[in-house]
Amino acid sequence: MEGCIFCKIINKEIKSEVVYEDERFVVFKDINPQAPIHLLLVPKKHISSINEISDEDEKFLDGVFSVIKKVATDLDFANSGYRVVINTGKDSGQEVLHIHFHILAKRRFSWPPG
Ligand code: AMP
Ligand code: ZN
Repeated sequence: MEGCIFCKIINKEIKSEVVYEDERFVVFKDINPQAPIHLLLVPKKHISSINEISDEDEKFLDGVFSVIKKVATDLDFANSGYRVVINTGKDSGQEVLHIHFHILAKRRFSWPPG
């Protein structure tokens, strides 16, 4: 989508450190990491947030956990554990309106979150 920073990353108009890519998803390093490992998993299709997922879009979720599991295994944090976060809307602090899964690892995370 025009002006969307994550679409630009997906289209390689903006540089990022991609750690995984297939026909539906890209996983790249967050530019402002909140943990030793902080990745962002995005669908190549522009969807603004969970609130905008259509019934058709929901098919994209079919493979998303396999991708997370693969990345966690390949980057060696599957066993130590990790946190997956999807910020949605104002109260969550969502800044980029292209749905993304934060994948954070290699430190202990507190609960409840801040
Ligand atoms: P959210 O607040 O959930 O919308 O998260 C947006 C995330 O995108 C933040 O963690 C930012 O650090 C990250 N981010 C913004 N611009 C870039 C970029 N060009 N490359 C990588 N990560 C980015
Ligand atoms: Zn986008």
